[in-house]
Amino acid sequence: MRIINSSRIGELLDWGTDQLKQAKVPEPALEAQLLLSQILRLKKLDLFLKKEKEVAKKDLTCFRKYIVLRRQRIPASYILKNTQFYGLDLFVDKGALIPRPETELLVEEIINIVGGRRTAEGRKNIKILEIGVGSGAIVVALAKNLNQAAITGTDTSAKALRIARKNIKKHKVETHVKLIRGSLFAKLKEKFDYIVSNPPYVKAKDFSLLQPEVGYEPKAALYGGKDGLDFYRKIISQARYYLQPGGLLAFEIGYGQARKIRQLLEKEQLFSSIEIKKDYSGIERIILAKSHE
Ligand code: GLN
Repeated sequence: MRIINSSRIGELLDWGTDQLKQAKVPEPALEAQLLLSQILRLKKLDLFLKKEKEVAKKDLTCFRKYIVLRRQRIPASYILKNTQFYGLDLFVDKGALIPRPETELLVEEIINIVGGRRTAEGRKNIKILEIGVGSGAIVVALAKNLNQAAITGTDTSAKALRIARKNIKKHKVETHVKLIRGSLFAKLKEKFDYIVSNPPYVKAKDFSLLQPEVGYEPKAALYGGKDGLDFYRKIISQARYYLQPGGLLAFEIGYGQARKIRQLLEKEQLFSSIEIKKDYSGIERIILAKSHE
């Protein structure tokens, strides 16, 4: 690794970009900017306006350390211990999957549907269940945007629940969100208006195709069995016991899984309509199934 002597912002960025490029990190310039901007607590744009400015010794040391870690392909979110999701700043660490931008679509759909239904039916208390809360990204984003919602989240991972709890506290939605440790429906005894999940859906033979960064994320949050559909099968087969009549089951799904998941839903004969939505890359990403009234 080439040593950096200068402590000027512009030169640090060039050095960092170069180092990350050598390690084949995608978007090396953006990543170097992200790391330095967080260390200096500056907006990315300000890095360019202040590129002649010298940084303090401790910031230089920190940047060097972050670049070394990022070269090992540790995700920036794990190095920085934060990420942005649905406009919210969230704490993350290796105990939970890093929330992906695609998952914001799932949140968006639910918020739009709940918002619309509320005015149509005058309903107030809406009960939402999320299976596999992970970092808590979805429950926090829903709670922040749906005042009337009582949200329950489950997860088998104690580490993930600790992270989710931290995010719930950070965004002051403790009164809206209840977390339960357990698998899937975790022996719940109630029914919900909405059941939401972004379950692990990566199939066995796709693991080798993932970016090295994903290798640092919990496998339990990614691996969906041989064909990636294990969790959809389990959730769909139990949905009737937990979904209100006229309720909605909403999933994030993986590339190429829509047709099979639709078949699983149809076979259940619980749903009156099934809708599939694409993400910004044109990939079928969300599936919404409404149960019979
Ligand atoms: N979108 C993730 C990935 O492939 C997978 C998330 C999941 O399994 N739910 O990087």
